[in-house]
Amino acid sequence: MMKLLMAKKYEGPAIGIDLGTTYSCVAIWQEQNNQAEIIHNEQGNRTTPSLVAFTDTQSLIGDAAKNQAATNPSNTVFDAKRLIGRKYSDSVVQEDVKLWPFQVIAGTDDKPTIVVKYKGEEKYLVPEDISSMVLTNMKEIAEAFLGSPVRNAVITVPAYFNDSQRKATKDAGAIAGLDVMRIINEPTAAGLAYGLQKKSRFDGKRNVFIFDLGGGTFDVSILTIEDDSFQVKATAGDTHLGGEDFDNILVDHFVKEFKRKHKKDISGNPRALRRLRSACEKAKRTLSFATDTTIEVDALFESTDLCSAITRAKFEELNIDLFKKCMETVERCLEDSKMDKSDIDDVVLVGGSSRIPKVQHLLQDFFNGKELCKGINPDEAVAYGAAVQAALLTDGVMNVPNLVLLDVTPLSLGTSVKGDVMSVVVPRNTTIPVKKTQGYITIEDNQSRVLIEVYEGERTRASDNNLLGSFYLTGLTPAPRGSPYDVCFAIDENGILIVSAEERTTDNKNEITITNETDRLSAKEIKRMIQEAENHEVDDMKFKNRVTAMNDLDLYLYKMNKSMKDKCVSSKLPSIVQDKINSAIVKGKSLLDDGQQLETSVFVEFLMELKSIFEPAMAKKSIATRTWGKLKKLI
Ligand code: ADP
Ligand code: MG
Repeated sequence: MMKLLMAKKYEGPAIGIDLGTTYSCVAIWQEQNNQAEIIHNEQGNRTTPSLVAFTDTQSLIGDAAKNQAATNPSNTVFDAKRLIGRKYSDSVVQEDVKLWPFQVIAGTDDKPTIVVKYKGEEKYLVPEDISSMVLTNMKEIAEAFLGSPVRNAVITVPAYFNDSQRKATKDAGAIAGLDVMRIINEPTAAGLAYGLQKKSRFDGKRNVFIFDLGGGTFDVSILTIEDDSFQVKATAGDTHLGGEDFDNILVDHFVKEFKRKHKKDISGNPRALRRLRSACEKAKRTLSFATDTTIEVDALFESTDLCSAITRAKFEELNIDLFKKCMETVERCLEDSKMDKSDIDDVVLVGGSSRIPKVQHLLQDFFNGKELCKGINPDEAVAYGAAVQAALLTDGVMNVPNLVLLDVTPLSLGTSVKGDVMSVVVPRNTTIPVKKTQGYITIEDNQSRVLIEVYEGERTRASDNNLLGSFYLTGLTPAPRGSPYDVCFAIDENGILIVSAEERTTDNKNEITITNETDRLSAKEIKRMIQEAENHEVDDMKFKNRVTAMNDLDLYLYKMNKSMKDKCVSSKLPSIVQDKINSAIVKGKSLLDDGQQLETSVFVEFLMELKSIFEPAMAKKSIATRTWGKLKKLI
């Protein structure tokens, strides 16, 4: 069985890194000031673009890479976070690849591989390589500030990152020479930063809604803060919604306008598009505090300049569908938490795009006019929280409030049992880390192995859920049907799941860990599955009743059969009764064989009929045997 790791205490300086899709941020806890400090980069910026570029002479990271992106689009790599821990054939990756100016191909094991030209040669890089370069940059920013080497770091990921994405992020940290103390969820980190600032100002329990709209991802969470404990009650999100999408909509708008005004189509020119996109991002930022702005790009295409005005109202009109989509996610998160709007004490804005006034208005309206909390700098809250977590894990750091962070599972986790039924071991929204063991029994005599299939999802039929992996528990001791074994689900503080199984009656332990890299689901898929489960509630209930009826009948037939094979039992029965019982067993077995075509009631009624034949016969005192007694307990 896996042991849950105890919080390990680290030595030396420890930083918190918000490794964003578009921007990254690094922070460190400052004991003397009793707060975390955001560390600025060489250019004096507190956030650094998560970009990497390659040229004939050098590789560039951050602002330097972003500044030359327009002139070197095919060798400027961004959005590595969209690729990390995913397969090339993943539909999400396929969609993204179409939009990028750099080349991505399928590498070994279907791993997305980025192809760039570096110092005159073709170079192949995996997403971990790109992220490790960004992390190295963040590490160096911290080292320059501290004047000493840094090894320890807490890195944040979106709430819905699966095992493989979390592991790959951890690997990227290791490649960057970091000892990754922990991977924590971004909204949780933001909540931690918020809770620290607020804590002195309230007592008792508070429900906090975290709204994180960044450059590439959107995460909402509901946290309950009580004393020193932060519990995530529910999370929802969209892995493909953020500032970049608003930029793209602006780009489309200006491409069309350019076509109309100048009869020139720039849509096939990556360099022009990239230049236009940076101008659009700048205009978008301006529109958060000004009601109109102009966008100017000299010689955008074939020596024609782009010079155009755009109002905040126009920007809002173009993006309103995406803004409304954000609100749907907000609503779903509340439904999941079974809370009402009025139960939320604070609504906190996180992520650069949460600065957009229209987004704030919609959110405020949704919460019936409630004032939004803007006390935390939205770009920095995640790194701030990560720095607090890093300090908590560091030996000898004083003055850090002893806070406990708790996260939840987005979907139920369980195994498939007889009849393709989902047996839930860890219910949805369970706080992690968690370790749960559930007992099962074998379904055949002398069964030598059992197949453990691990699923996530809310449907009653296991195969309607998402199969995460499977393995055999082999070498079972020969025994009659019903011999017990345990299956243990352990999710560690990084959200990584390990399933093991062991035979209970003997010491025969078969410790098996699922190393299968099968992808966990994206936020969109999780949303779809929860919706589907709700739509199929009635069907699922019918399915469950039917399987239960079939299993009950099957077990009873097994019990009858076993008794009849026991000479001490059968010899005491008149042959006419024996024949009646035996033919009933044959009929029951054939009913089960035809199972799929029959109504549930057929099984229920036949079981009653069997009992009316069998039980009076067994009830005779002389016939009550050990076999019968033992078998009875099995039910
Ligand atoms: P991520 O963590 O997803 O990389 P951030 O939280 O750093 O993202 O937010 C980056 C996004 O926020 C970018 O798309 C950027 O254009 C946008 N952004 C930053 N400042 C503003 C602003 N003032 N108004 C609107 N959007 C902004
Ligand atoms: Mg972010």
